[in-house]
Amino acid sequence: MKIIDGKTISADIKKEIAAEVAGFIDRGRRAPHMAAILVGHDGASETYVASKEKNCVSVGMTSSVYRYEENISEKELLEVISFLNQDEDVDGFIVQLPLPKHMDVDKVMAAINPEKDIDGFHPSNLGRLVMGEDTFVPATPCGIMELIKRSGIETVGKECVVLGRSNIVGTPMALLLSRNNPGANATVTLCHSKTRDLAAVTRRADILVAAIGKPGFVTADMVKEGAVVIDVGIHRVADEKASSGYRLCGDVDYAGVSAKCSAITPVPGGVGPMTIAALLMNTLKAYKKRFPEG
Ligand code: NAP
Repeated sequence: MKIIDGKTISADIKKEIAAEVAGFIDRGRRAPHMAAILVGHDGASETYVASKEKNCVSVGMTSSVYRYEENISEKELLEVISFLNQDEDVDGFIVQLPLPKHMDVDKVMAAINPEKDIDGFHPSNLGRLVMGEDTFVPATPCGIMELIKRSGIETVGKECVVLGRSNIVGTPMALLLSRNNPGANATVTLCHSKTRDLAAVTRRADILVAAIGKPGFVTADMVKEGAVVIDVGIHRVADEKASSGYRLCGDVDYAGVSAKCSAITPVPGGVGPMTIAALLMNTLKAYKKRFPEG
């Protein structure tokens, strides 16, 4: 059984990005600049944004974080987005989710300039993805496609099952795997909470992508012998033995499934670091679109 090492692959990608950024700076250009808007003090969101900031700086990019209290109005948030849309020094930005309940997330996403939408959540970017046009692919599925490609996992003609149909993970993942592109061309089934006899469907998968948000949900009996398993889930579960009082786990029962599959992504160290690497790739792409002269 092979462990698909997202940490090492993401480190390789970051090295490649850092070399490109250093080249721009050598040619007298400014560094690419990623901004993040963080509303409130959700622990996981704080951690994600801090990690994005640290990784951005590690490849030589500029990072800035716009922090607001939970009670910021939607109107004020839209004004910040409008400011960043027009700021010539910012190449791309994200609005960290989840947003407080009084915000209309779709309205907020639609306010982002699609050319700076490095999370790929703007409806026109999601539409371009459906059309198979060049676009900003949402970071998690973008990172998973890169992980599959760089791990040498064969996808052509394979049966892929994607568990979960969210707009930010499952649906784009299913679209990308089914594309007539190198590293794709799979036959894809997209499952959700209304799928009948889920285990019978997942057992057909040569490649199983689990993105349902339930710790340890995918058990060995749901997996075909020799399948490749990509675990997107990330959860903190209480663990008395851990000094922090918790441990991280995914949507897959790692101990049971790893004994049966041919390759699996660990949690942590699988999809998570690839999501960050993909966000940096999207920032670089936004920068290069704005400055095509290189
Ligand atoms: P989400 O929006 O909550 O979507 C979950 C999907 O799973 C929904 O489509 C839902 O079906 C389906 N589902 C839920 N229970 C099910 C069941 N019993 N049987 C079959 N399908 C079921 O979640 P998400 O945002 O896509 O995230 C999924 C997981 O990935 C979460 O654990 C999240 O933390 C993690 N994540 C990780 C990263 C990373 O960088 N590692 C990034 C993003 C997300 P319905 O549509 O029918 O409700």
